[in-house]
Amino acid sequence: MTDTMLSESLASARRRLTEALAAAGRPADAARLLAVSKTKPAGMIREAWRLGQREFGENYVQEALEKQAELADLEDIVWHFIGPLQANKTRAVAEHFDWVHSVDREKVARRLNDQRPEALRPLEVCLQVNVSGEASKAGIGFDELEDLAGKVLALPRLRLRGLMAIPAPADGLARQREPLARLRLALDALRRRFPEAPLDTLSMGMSDDLEAAVLEGATLVRLGTAIFGTRDTSRR
Ligand SMILES: *Cc1c(COP(=O)(O)O)cnc(C)c1O
Repeated sequence: MTDTMLSESLASARRRLTEALAAAGRPADAARLLAVSKTKPAGMIREAWRLGQREFGENYVQEALEKQAELADLEDIVWHFIGPLQANKTRAVAEHFDWVHSVDREKVARRLNDQRPEALRPLEVCLQVNVSGEASKAGIGFDELEDLAGKVLALPRLRLRGLMAIPAPADGLARQREPLARLRLALDALRRRFPEAPLDTLSMGMSDDLEAAVLEGATLVRLGTAIFGTRDTSRR
């Protein structure tokens, strides 16, 4: 993808988000764009940064560390880890990311807390919820959410910001909205249960369901393909 194409696709992703927010009757700044740059080269991230994009999402620890090293001069870049997180990879994530969206068990949360360097601000985290109830998918069930949230809120080096989900693909706005509405209701319930917690984030909405997610209150939409083009799946 050329720089010109990236500039156009980023502009159209921004327009799409703006229009979705307007259609939902929400303020223009009620949701932000997270540019999902997995499998894409550091040069494309630099170009998106030059065009004003600041928040980037990565899924694979080693790949992300390599790109972060190349982009170390971009001081205000914000790195989000959004991929499956194994307990043996938590240290690199705790040291090199600002956000983690995929916390789904206590062991991982505790390790991130213990490994977060003192010199850095607390790590911003979301709990990943398995909204579609698929056995193979990562994320905790709704029934375990309150318990895990309570445990994460007790960890001083983590700040629990909200919930994240990757719903099973569905056709049509109404079907797409169902699992996203359940995530919104779960966040509302957590807010009532933990009124002091900084629970302001619904990380949901990807290239195929952004409009549905914005209608259901997404505050952080994660767009990969719509910004950077299709991924070479042979690499992953
Ligand atoms: C890859 C990925 C995205 C982006 O998906 P697109 O369909 O390319 O927009 C969003 N969230 C997560 C967790 C991902 O792994």
